[in-house]
Amino acid sequence: MVLSNLEKKILEQSYSIIQQINRLSSLADSELMMTVLDYKPATADIISLGSKPEQNMEKIRNYAQQIGLHLAVSNYKYIVNSPRGIFREIPLDNPRLGKIILAFSKSKDKAKKGTDYYHKKMLNSRYGYKFGKLMGYPECCLRFGNYLNNDNNDSNNFGFKNPAVESLKNSKHFAWQLNVFTISLLSHYPCSLTCKKSIKYVDKIFSCFDYIDKERSLFLKNYLTEPASLYWTCADRILLYGDFQQHTLGTGEIKYSKIEPIITSNTYYQEVDKKNISQWQNIAKVLQQGNKLIVTDDLCSIYLNKEKIFEIKKNNKYIPVLVKPDILPRYKKSGNTL
Ligand SMILES: [Zn+2]
Repeated sequence: MVLSNLEKKILEQSYSIIQQINRLSSLADSELMMTVLDYKPATADIISLGSKPEQNMEKIRNYAQQIGLHLAVSNYKYIVNSPRGIFREIPLDNPRLGKIILAFSKSKDKAKKGTDYYHKKMLNSRYGYKFGKLMGYPECCLRFGNYLNNDNNDSNNFGFKNPAVESLKNSKHFAWQLNVFTISLLSHYPCSLTCKKSIKYVDKIFSCFDYIDKERSLFLKNYLTEPASLYWTCADRILLYGDFQQHTLGTGEIKYSKIEPIITSNTYYQEVDKKNISQWQNIAKVLQQGNKLIVTDDLCSIYLNKEKIFEIKKNNKYIPVLVKPDILPRYKKSGNTL
């Protein structure tokens, strides 16, 4: 995807400021970049800022102003307890650590609505569609978001408890751009792992990073294309580097030489199931001692050469999954190409 001269100029003027906002607020640089370039009307997220968020807020607001964005901030802090967004509101001056909603847009009204709808969608998932529309998500993925609400209590639907697995269940193939199992560049969950509109969005992000920050671009592409992911939740996964062989989308085996555990539920959520986390951390420990992992619908088995050193039964065939994109960029030798 080619950038226009105007887009290049905007990026040159705004990128270092975007990085400052990212550093102070942890709001995704790619999201801010796409908002500045008018590829999305607004961006919003819930973030931890420590007990005194107001200290950084004026700096963030000033930086935003310099790149033509308005900042809106929620009137409350939130205690977030699950991916579903079950939360408690607490006042901004409450000493408990909480999270705060930030929204950015070129329109003051849309920034304000961004914090408002984010808040409302946590109380009532029906606001998910309205929020997503405001954030510029593709219509196909918005409809998928409605399905994730799981209004009819479909027991096969993980809903927002594990949306990445729902994206996977909707897919026959898996495009590297939509690798929500390693680090996602999307702020929504794609209706399938080959959703054309979502791929186009990520391609645009990469044409920006390729132009303005080649190093960042390579870093992100590496995460999206190299590792396989042993994935439990959006906050808990172990990345494995090596030779991956897919059995079905979600199962497979990998002879690995390196692992990278990213098990963060205990820092991401403020109340978690400690038993699960210690089990996953234990699996990471055993993986360090082995060199091959096989994940089927029923079992996770770890081998050291030919010897099985660990096995655990899965309660559900989708928890965990072992996945890696099967549609890779052209410059990669193995796999299909787009
Ligand atoms: Zn879609």
